[in-house]
Amino acid sequence: MNTVNVCETFVSLQGESSYAGLPCFFIRLAGCNLHCRYCDTAYARAPGRETPVAELVARVRSDRAPLCEITGGEPLLQPGFPALARAVKDETGKTLLVETNGSCDLSLVPEGAIAVMDVKCPGSGEGESFAMANLGRLRPCDEVKFVLADETDYRWALEFVEKRRLTSLCHAVLFSPVHSALDARVLANWMLRDRVPARLQLQWHRQLGMR
Ligand code: SF4
Repeated sequence: MNTVNVCETFVSLQGESSYAGLPCFFIRLAGCNLHCRYCDTAYARAPGRETPVAELVARVRSDRAPLCEITGGEPLLQPGFPALARAVKDETGKTLLVETNGSCDLSLVPEGAIAVMDVKCPGSGEGESFAMANLGRLRPCDEVKFVLADETDYRWALEFVEKRRLTSLCHAVLFSPVHSALDARVLANWMLRDRVPARLQLQWHRQLGMR
């Protein structure tokens, strides 16, 4: 496949990983298989524009941002994703992040790219969606993110991290509060109290009113 279905491309600060704060060229692919309650990109569920991989690679290459992120929607659903990811990685020399919701086969992310994989918590309404086999597909460079709506989610995520020894399987574990649902200071205090082996992650782009 030499095309992918694109919702939008844009440049913003990377906001949801240990690369947060760096300028990033985003490629948002269209379509998603989940229906998270707090989804802030519902528009990405609609069909987008079929776009040649070569055109996207040229856009990434010509932008000065040091990072590129392929996100969605759910990018791993698209047959053209592997070709796009390989081409961005091999032909632009930029650091490539791939954001995925955890329900699809993580091995589709090529070597050299960094997966930022969600494990959906019960508060998302998609708490059963995580593909457990993906734990065995994590590489040392990858990151795992839990977006937390409340204390039930927090306790669920903490148990998941500890039971699966998640910190030994990847580069970083991230706990991120649902914007406007869980106060980041409250979450920070829980994490300090429990000495959680995860990083608080604050969705920098949203704090700054950016997309
Ligand atoms: S996986 Fe992401 S894009 Fe899909 S519904 Fe959930 S938050 Fe929205």
